[in-house]
Amino acid sequence: MLFSPLCSGSSGNVSYLEAGGVRLLIDAGITAKRLRSLMSMIDLSPEGLDAILITHEHSDHVSGIGVLSRKYNIPVYAAEECWERMPKSIGAIATKNIHVFEPDREFYLKQLCVHPFSTPHDAAHAVGYSFVHSGKKLSIMTDIGHVSKRMLDAVAYSDLILLEANHDVDMLKAGSYPYPLKMRILSSHGHLCNEDAGLVLQKLHARGVKNAILGHLSEENNTPELALITVQSLLDEAGLLDSMFVTVADRFQPCGLFEL
Ligand SMILES: [Zn+2]
Ligand SMILES: [Zn+2]
Repeated sequence: MLFSPLCSGSSGNVSYLEAGGVRLLIDAGITAKRLRSLMSMIDLSPEGLDAILITHEHSDHVSGIGVLSRKYNIPVYAAEECWERMPKSIGAIATKNIHVFEPDREFYLKQLCVHPFSTPHDAAHAVGYSFVHSGKKLSIMTDIGHVSKRMLDAVAYSDLILLEANHDVDMLKAGSYPYPLKMRILSSHGHLCNEDAGLVLQKLHARGVKNAILGHLSEENNTPELALITVQSLLDEAGLLDSMFVTVADRFQPCGLFEL
């Protein structure tokens, strides 16, 4: 299993996964040109991609899917409510490339088991994903207002997780965002803050998760250094720092190609 967060944040989200005979993207909130440039940084190209899996219809996750699907003939998978609320700006997608899955029900792409699980976010029907192949498990859980026990169970025993650490609460409260936007981000269906990401990783450590990438960092209300130190100090308080690898996904380029 190969995994790379190609870029992560409000200016565009795309991750690459290769496992079980399929090469796919999770979300594609960037242009086709930028995708090609990001993939080339880790010696990959968009030709022959088997699927794009969508988490939810916000433009930082879907703005590029129409062009990519048309240009490279890529099937796109999303929940029914997500398709219904998809921004018109993505344009038409060929009927044969429109695939609907049922959230909270596993399905297979060749040998890769895909588990889309419902997540709390202000979108039509947002999901996170767990992928399992050949005894390895990778999970993606961003754009989440909070984390329930059901979600912890969904990502338990992941060999690697991409977990949201969106903002520092004090920076957000003191920052320039309009009040309604601050309230939306802080709500239980908004985005996960650094402290909550640290607390989630404390719980996930007990569920066998030992490797994490922090992602979807806010440009205005967070820094990679602050996200990392906040999460690491919470792990340290729980005596878990030495047994948990944590790194931060870059907003604009791949933070590595991880082999599981
Ligand atoms: Zn979102
Ligand atoms: Zn987002």
